[in-house]
Amino acid sequence: MNVQYCTRCVVSNQRPRITFDKDGVCSACRFAYEKHHVIDWTERERQLHDLLDRHRSKDGSYDCVVPGSGGKDSSYVAYMLKYKYGMHPLTVTWAPHIYTDIGWRNYLAFKDSGFDNLLAFPNGRLHRRLSRLAFELWGDHFKIFGLGQKAYGFHIAVKFGIPLVFYGESGEVEYGGSTKNKEKPCESVEDWSELYYQGSSLSELLKHGRTSGLVSEEELQNERFLFYWHPPLDDLKKIGAEMHWFSYYKKWVPQENYYCAVEHTGFQANPDGRSEGTYSKYASLDDRTDGFHYYLGYIKFGLGRTTSDAAHEIRDGHLTREEGVALVHRYDGEFPQKYYQEFLEYLDISDGEFWEVVNHYRSLTPHLWENRGGEWVLKHRVK
Ligand SMILES: [Zn+2]
Repeated sequence: MNVQYCTRCVVSNQRPRITFDKDGVCSACRFAYEKHHVIDWTERERQLHDLLDRHRSKDGSYDCVVPGSGGKDSSYVAYMLKYKYGMHPLTVTWAPHIYTDIGWRNYLAFKDSGFDNLLAFPNGRLHRRLSRLAFELWGDHFKIFGLGQKAYGFHIAVKFGIPLVFYGESGEVEYGGSTKNKEKPCESVEDWSELYYQGSSLSELLKHGRTSGLVSEEELQNERFLFYWHPPLDDLKKIGAEMHWFSYYKKWVPQENYYCAVEHTGFQANPDGRSEGTYSKYASLDDRTDGFHYYLGYIKFGLGRTTSDAAHEIRDGHLTREEGVALVHRYDGEFPQKYYQEFLEYLDISDGEFWEVVNHYRSLTPHLWENRGGEWVLKHRVK
């Protein structure tokens, strides 16, 4: 109930699972300090060589799966694995809800720069309804995308018998969350189930779908919803699946990833300028609907897209805290107007229904919001 801002960056204690120490510094800032000053990256590089030597194929067959969109981060990981470390990645992409023009161009440029890629679209009719259910039930339509994004790579790993799956960064460690894995190179499947599925499982969503009539009994019987679930643990164990974070082995600096992707995989920043809700032009560009994921985060936690971008850049030394605070005041919580109509049509909801959900979440957070003369304002802002 007491809102506290980090004394080093711009994030607050409202971010789920983040912790603050006695000096008022958040766990992500503490980790960033270790990243820039303590961790022995030469030793980590040695560990990476060991891991890759164990997995590298001799006949050119795939030896790792790299999930990603063709955005700057996954492009960087795939590029490094293939061209710096001589691996043979199979890259896999779980399509966004609705591609942006720049997201699609970056995706094409990425595979054209030299990567085999599998692109998966889920059943569009169902995916829209599941997105709507996720929006109603959890105030975040994006969670349904996240389930597939995480699971799809593992299905492909099982199918092709490729044990090594490489994700980019550990979001929990890098951006503030559970730090229990910060000394670990990989996440166990059990960790994954615990963090991502607790309280937000697909079965809960489908139950809600059945009650609300958005998913029929027939669909529940006939559809498998396969890619939203991780493959059976036994199948993963059989191939010896290991999920590693590239950020454990190489210092993770998104701005550097961006430069790498521009130079080597044809990545372009958004030619239309900054994304709504932030000052950034190169992060999270693929999906026309993702502004609403950030906007709902702003409603639920008082932390919007600018906060998350600025916090990270402050930790990496690209922004001062003062600059970050100014950017938050200027852009955080800006409504994603550009694709609003399209978002409503995609979820098949009205303007009124959209605000009903927003106001429901606002009503759950009276310690964050107050209504001043008909206008909702945050009670606390970073200073
Ligand atoms: Zn911090």
